[in-house]
Amino acid sequence: MKSTSATVHFNTQGTPVADNFDDVYFSNDSGIDETMHVFMGGNDLPGRWLEHQKSHFVIGETGFGTGLNCLVAMHAFRQFRHANPDHPLTHLFILTTEKYPLLQDDIKKALLAFPTLAEAADLLVAQYPMALQGCHRLHFNAFSTTLDLWQGDVHALLPQWHTPVDGLVDAWFLDGFAPSKNPQMWTDALFSQLGRLSKPGATFGTFTAAGVVKRGLSAAGFEVKKHPGFGRKRDMLVGRYAELRRKKIDAPYYRFSSVALTAHHRVAIVGGGLAGACTAYALAKRGISATLFCHSDSLAQGASGNPQGGFYPQLHAQASFPSQIQALSFLYANRHYRQLAQHRPFSHDWCGVLQLGFSEEVVKRQHKMVSADIWPSEMIAPVNEQEVTAIAGVHLPYSGIYIPQGGWICPPELVTSLINAAAEYVDVKLSHQITEIRESTDVVNLTINNTRYDFDHVILATGADSITLDIFDQLPLRPVRGQVEAIPTQPPIVNLKAVICHKGYLTPAYQGRHALGSTYQKNDVDCTPRESETHINLQTHRKALASSQWIDKLKYDGTARASVRLGMPDHQPAVGLLGDTEKQARDYADLFKGQPLSAMPLPAKGRVSVFTGLGSRGLTTAPLMAEMLVSQLCHQPLPMANSLLQALNPNRFVIRACQRGAAETDT
Ligand code: SAM
Repeated sequence: MKSTSATVHFNTQGTPVADNFDDVYFSNDSGIDETMHVFMGGNDLPGRWLEHQKSHFVIGETGFGTGLNCLVAMHAFRQFRHANPDHPLTHLFILTTEKYPLLQDDIKKALLAFPTLAEAADLLVAQYPMALQGCHRLHFNAFSTTLDLWQGDVHALLPQWHTPVDGLVDAWFLDGFAPSKNPQMWTDALFSQLGRLSKPGATFGTFTAAGVVKRGLSAAGFEVKKHPGFGRKRDMLVGRYAELRRKKIDAPYYRFSSVALTAHHRVAIVGGGLAGACTAYALAKRGISATLFCHSDSLAQGASGNPQGGFYPQLHAQASFPSQIQALSFLYANRHYRQLAQHRPFSHDWCGVLQLGFSEEVVKRQHKMVSADIWPSEMIAPVNEQEVTAIAGVHLPYSGIYIPQGGWICPPELVTSLINAAAEYVDVKLSHQITEIRESTDVVNLTINNTRYDFDHVILATGADSITLDIFDQLPLRPVRGQVEAIPTQPPIVNLKAVICHKGYLTPAYQGRHALGSTYQKNDVDCTPRESETHINLQTHRKALASSQWIDKLKYDGTARASVRLGMPDHQPAVGLLGDTEKQARDYADLFKGQPLSAMPLPAKGRVSVFTGLGSRGLTTAPLMAEMLVSQLCHQPLPMANSLLQALNPNRFVIRACQRGAAETDT
């Protein structure tokens, strides 16, 4: 769902002012000094970082605005890290909400006023996401900071933040326009969420001293004190969360494991495709080493092995969970790939993707999606026949939808780039076939090439090979064979400038060939190319593109590749700790009688995770899924809303079955 962008003007002092609130984003006198006084000082930062003995510290903010507070905090954190290189606190997370995101140009202009923050401001502007509701995770590696920018109304967002039993947030920056100008924000519902998410002893600082805020925070469990305000403001409020009770978790099938992964743990990744490589990368970013086992003699030999893959989100006319997962994953992957490509090049072309309206039904569906007006126009734009032909560079008399940030990527090269980027932390073991997994309370034993290995945690990113492992019997896996043709380039497709999708897809040329795909043969795990499927692929194109005469004349030479993708019945990936199904089925047997999930025990043993079921959409989803999984394993804030986490959880199938009163693990 798209967000409504802020409309702002700059006043005579050059300070941005929000038109709809008639209030400034920061003090006319000195924005940085105000942030240091109210938000940093109000939370006793950076002083408290020195006392912090955990590896990460979490700041929660209401009202991201120009990002000034966040940039000041990350600058201070970098100074803290430089001054204390051996301190256990190594990473800062900032979780912030914004209902009306500023336009990128306005952010840029506003932050020009702070030359000392220029380095972080440039990084923010470069990664600044389009106006789309949900969590956008931005990495500021040079500042050891991760910024989760949650677009939407703070009232809708905070209940969607996952909190561990001992709380999530260490310090709150309670910003947002003055309660007199923005009374809708400063409500009891907000204060109670702040309490829900606070760690015991969490602090807050806010510029306002309004009675409604003081009373509300007190009622929500905070000890509240008045402090001298900044500039012309007489008072402001600071305080501390005084509750000590552990949190009640609403969705127990998304609890953290009992032990957070650290650099001291022995971690194994099984699988040498995109899921495994993204996981190795996400672990390496946190300084965690892993052994990656791949049964083939080179990486990316399964579904990640095609020379070209289309990169785009699959969206619908509703902001359903699957659509949200696609849209947010696509934007995360887009940022990630573009950054990676600068240092570890891989073949790709951000040439855009055209989804053609090749039948009346599809035209209607696309029309419905465009008129629903829920996706930002930078993400999908309607295009007419002339525009399609101009973008494609090939005669295509169809209207359609254009995804300008999409394109194609060479997945095996991407996998190599990710592994090279993670090289310091990943030990790749090729030709290692895993035959047995035994999980006990203290360890996981893997039997590989007849040798037993012990690990503290194992991540199974095994793609289609999952079907050969007993441990996956509890998941409803759906293998689907897909054959893709590699047709020689020729007129007119030698001129093709964008990926085109209809019932199948066709890519621009790469190394003299185009990918033309793909077949979908359910429950077929054979990977030998078949002439019969070449015909299916060509027929699919001839039928869908019947108005383009060149399609009948395409020459092909039978070069093709077949692989098996693994999907789930609800077409969403399965990412997270693997449950103990038998125990779950027993523990959760009464769910169908209406017993609340919150009363149920943790369903996972906690030493084996799965990362599978990416289907044919791995290029879009794998980076965010890996980041989410590794955040979960390290007990760090999660870059996804609770509802989406549940839609992705491997345990969802058994829980849904128990809710229906069915004993079997199905959908
Ligand atoms: N902290 C900001 C900075 O560093 O630039 C300034 C914040 S500005 C004073 C207040 C922000 O709160 C605005 O960007 C506004 O759009 C946002 N806001 C107001 N109501 C909100 C709500 N209900 N949910 C989320 N954000 C909200």
